[in-house]
Amino acid sequence: MVRLQFSIAWLLLLSALSTVARYSSAADESLPIPGGRTVVPQSVLPDTSGAAAPIRRTKRVLLVTWPECPRCSEELQRLQAAGGPFELMRNRGWLIGRGPENHIQIVDASNVLDADIAELVSELTFGGSPVVLYVEQGAIARSFQRGCTTPLDQWTFGWLMTGNDERPVDFDPEPIDVATTGHYRLRGNHWSVDGNWNPSREYVIQHLRAAHPSQLQPEWDIEVWSLEELRSVHDDIHDREEGFRGRYTASTATRSSSSSRSSSSGAVGYRKPGNAGR
Ligand SMILES: [Zn+2]
Repeated sequence: MVRLQFSIAWLLLLSALSTVARYSSAADESLPIPGGRTVVPQSVLPDTSGAAAPIRRTKRVLLVTWPECPRCSEELQRLQAAGGPFELMRNRGWLIGRGPENHIQIVDASNVLDADIAELVSELTFGGSPVVLYVEQGAIARSFQRGCTTPLDQWTFGWLMTGNDERPVDFDPEPIDVATTGHYRLRGNHWSVDGNWNPSREYVIQHLRAAHPSQLQPEWDIEVWSLEELRSVHDDIHDREEGFRGRYTASTATRSSSSSRSSSSGAVGYRKPGNAGR
């Protein structure tokens, strides 16, 4: 068993090395995004002049964990599970690991850090979850705002790395007919609520009260609001606070015409609830 594990580890190492070689052989490599069309030039700078020095990717995603963070190990386990996001991404050519040669570098903030990210990591504020950043030349270019909505998955990593959100829209089924009680302007293309794409009314109420109390206006009696209203205010809260703005810029418009779903073949494929005034 030990020997078997050893040979597997060796195979993994070999394949990782060959992939590194492939990536470092050209300055203008492309990064396949899971399921996406984006081709991204990857500039790879050699670390130092030392021949054996590992390459250090000047543009990479950092997934920063620290020891006193149970959720960090949970998240890592989820990402690294068989068939999980990291496996899907590795199959697409992503390099993921502890070293600076990776597209996604997993960093333990309590360890000795690579020189180009040491200062940046030391200035991070840690909450209860891993911090996920995209850095270019040692500066933060994009960050994953942990909230209750966007899952940390291959699409989020793709967005971090490229700035393009290629998350398919089909993952968010929505009812065609929606109810409103006239308390809040409806919108579609909802955020998930704490990772839940089909939350119940009670679930959203509880989430809004627990996670966003300061963003709810005092006079709002959300307990009597409809599910679509609750989800709409939740969307707006997250649009204001989170980074995926480009995807949602067109989705706040109210819609009063037919209840047809927009086609996902469009550039973005927004979905709106129908007959908002009902
Ligand atoms: Zn939320």
